[in-house]
Amino acid sequence: MILGGVITAVVAALAVTGCAPAVSPVPSTSAAASETPVASPTPSAGPAPVATSTPTPTPTPTPTPTAAPAPAADVASAASLQVLVNKRTPLQPADYQPQLVSVSIAQDGDELVRPEADAALEQLSAAMLADIGEGVHVFSSYRSHARQSSLYDGYVAQHGQAVADTTSARPGHSEHQTGLAVDVVGTGGACRLDVCFGSTPAGRWIAEHAWEHGFIVRYPDGLQGITGYHYEPWHLRFIGAETSAAMHAQGAATYEEYLGAGAAPDYGQ
Ligand SMILES: [Zn+2]
Repeated sequence: MILGGVITAVVAALAVTGCAPAVSPVPSTSAAASETPVASPTPSAGPAPVATSTPTPTPTPTPTPTAAPAPAADVASAASLQVLVNKRTPLQPADYQPQLVSVSIAQDGDELVRPEADAALEQLSAAMLADIGEGVHVFSSYRSHARQSSLYDGYVAQHGQAVADTTSARPGHSEHQTGLAVDVVGTGGACRLDVCFGSTPAGRWIAEHAWEHGFIVRYPDGLQGITGYHYEPWHLRFIGAETSAAMHAQGAATYEEYLGAGAAPDYGQ
């Protein structure tokens, strides 16, 4: 049936997309980005008139209320909960492997995430269950560099690199390799791996409340020019409750915008 075809296509895309790490076509500029703790990306909102010291790259312990996002987080280290990973910013090292635990909530089986993400998922699912009578089900989570390489290579062989890059992440460029990203659906299973998930009670609840538990819907609708990916209402990225709250307060639609990082529509090659 038609739906089957659509789902198959989406599944294929997912496997490669935001869910795929990449080899290592690391652009020369990546070195600088990876070693810069926090100082670089200046938020568009403007460097808040916090008038005090000068350009001191010191992590300010004072969270700025409204204006500036103040990304006093380590977005460069692969092990950081706030690490930025997109088509212009690969994981460093590309074959990074996090410490993982089994997902504690409903899942397909053998799903793995970092412990911080798992604890937050339990809270997220419990809160959603209490609100709408449906919990969170994880159907995709950690994906190794080797697995992503295999998936990506398969897409390239089948459709060519240009097409593959529109739906699949190159190894080293997938958030799923961080152990901080999960693809979810409500325990009711409606619109699994389909953009219609965003219109279901579960999808709507997640879009509205995920930030309260440290997660963000990483690839919002219509912002592929910034994130590099089409709308994926099911792909959640854990960035820590403090950071997600700050991002929510700032009103940033994407993690790139929040960090003041450049758009990552493609690999820049
Ligand atoms: Zn995903």
